[in-house]
Amino acid sequence: MLKQMHAFIPIARPMVGEDELDAVRAVLTSGNLAQGAVVAAFEDAFAAECGVRYAVAVTNGTLALHAALLAHGIGPGDEVITSPFTFIASANAIRATGATPVFADIEPETFAIDPDAVRAAISPRTVALLPIHLFGHPAPMPELRAIARQHGLALIEDACQAHGAAIDEVPVGGYGAGCFSFYPTKNVTSGEGGMVTTNDPAVADAIRLFRSHGMRRRYYHEVFGLNYRMTDLLAAIGLAQLKHLQTWNAIRASHAGILTSGLYDSGLKLPTVRPGYTHVFHQYTVRVREDRDGFRERLKDEGVGSEVYYPVPVHQQQIYAGACTEEFPEAERASREVLSLPVHPSLTDMEIDRVIVGVGNALRR
Ligand SMILES: *Cc1c(COP(=O)(O)O)cnc(C)c1O
Repeated sequence: MLKQMHAFIPIARPMVGEDELDAVRAVLTSGNLAQGAVVAAFEDAFAAECGVRYAVAVTNGTLALHAALLAHGIGPGDEVITSPFTFIASANAIRATGATPVFADIEPETFAIDPDAVRAAISPRTVALLPIHLFGHPAPMPELRAIARQHGLALIEDACQAHGAAIDEVPVGGYGAGCFSFYPTKNVTSGEGGMVTTNDPAVADAIRLFRSHGMRRRYYHEVFGLNYRMTDLLAAIGLAQLKHLQTWNAIRASHAGILTSGLYDSGLKLPTVRPGYTHVFHQYTVRVREDRDGFRERLKDEGVGSEVYYPVPVHQQQIYAGACTEEFPEAERASREVLSLPVHPSLTDMEIDRVIVGVGNALRR
């Protein structure tokens, strides 16, 4: 009965304070609500955070991926190798260019695309690799970059879950074109929003042109484009949030450490971090080997929220299943076993303890 005295612990809870409210109020009263100086300031701050030369803000993470692919000239007839274990946006952005997503299986430990599987999936039509830094753990970028260089492929990182993640202290987003999302559940939010990071001036320029109907000069359209802009209103929220990124990521890592020591003998397969890699714990994802969905229900009764990211691998989704007859055993197993537990920075110490106790109870019942 005690558990009913406590509020349910959600899987995500955006942290928004006075800074965001003040920033939004300032933009609203400025008279400039669309893309302007605040977007530019957000881009500069984000580029600095990622240690890259350019950051270009767009409407959301899905369109960041789409714009980055288009900026590399990717289109019909091309193949882009990506992971079958991700949010659908990674594959759909490829499909939106007219290119074909080709899947390569994942490494079981990190859930990231496996370099050996990538090598095996390369064909004469392959033009790019699109790894995902899933759950906040970087994909094996040094290996993937070597493969990309050897085969002359573009490298586009789906970093939508990995703001601030790094390999040997080098932030993700600078290996190729980094695509970020600012959806409310991500490590920092602007409500909705996206960003492409790159060190390549041509890629940055192509995305800037594309996001504003291909115009450099007002009503002179050099190339094809659409409206993929972010607004100053949302950039103001993102800019206020970005100041907290390092602190919030440190709290996520600390929560993950507490969960790992509290659950070490639970029998669950707990997250691991590759040596030299900085995991930003967008999600704390365990594997439940038996009856994952039943366990999830019992956990809910304990007042602990959780989520399955993702219950169906992309190649088995209805929209891809017809075109893809291959099997990806690790992605399929991950979809059956994974469960993400609350790890977000707004959790109190007491809530973290309740997650650990709740997991124990749900496993025993
Ligand atoms: C959130 C997310 C996206 C898409 O971002 P939106 O801003 O929601 O469009 C793409 N890929 C991954 C892995 C994501 O988690």
